[in-house]
Amino acid sequence: MHTLVADHPLIAHKLTALRDVATDTPVFRRLTDELVTLVAYEATRDVRVERVSVQTPLAIADGVKLARPIPLVVPVLRAGIGMLDGMARLLPTADVGFVGLARDEETLLASTYAARLPADLTGRDTFVLDPMLATGGTLETVFKMLASRGAASITGICLLAAPEGVAHLEAAFPDDFPIPVKVVTAGLDDRLNERGYIMPGLGDAGDRLFGEI
Ligand code: URA
Repeated sequence: MHTLVADHPLIAHKLTALRDVATDTPVFRRLTDELVTLVAYEATRDVRVERVSVQTPLAIADGVKLARPIPLVVPVLRAGIGMLDGMARLLPTADVGFVGLARDEETLLASTYAARLPADLTGRDTFVLDPMLATGGTLETVFKMLASRGAASITGICLLAAPEGVAHLEAAFPDDFPIPVKVVTAGLDDRLNERGYIMPGLGDAGDRLFGEI
């Protein structure tokens, strides 16, 4: 698995504001939206395209368009929903699937409570939206669901990652894994705390986007 920390001053600036405990929900949502679009720009660098030509007012120009089958975007419920608009702005024609995973706060293990995905993903680039790569259990589960349906590539898009989660995914998806697997994150933090939170992190992303439940 390849991990990329998107290195850009605007991303660092917005991520700093996102972390701030004084940032309220409306601003947190807007910053998430803006960050996703910036990170997704990097994450879609290898998306498959095919050559086309277009008639300009003056001549024929060579260009490209997204290859078929079109990409699939998969926000992980609940916090990944806060990343969907920013991603859809960049890939408006992509299909959207949904996976819901809940983390047991004692064992830190994630269990699947919802999955709405095409049965056959043969030849499709897939992009998984989950703001926090903490233990890596959630993304491992979702990545394996996509790989077992035949996805051509899997890219996780995160706002923050912990080294423990990155190491977990690297072990689960070694270099000889049959398809390209990548994680692109706006930031890589220091560690997980004993409750599985990323440190220094930004707290609970779902709560900050949608309120405590
Ligand atoms: N999920 C979150 O929302 N925050 C963390 O720090 C870890 C997992």
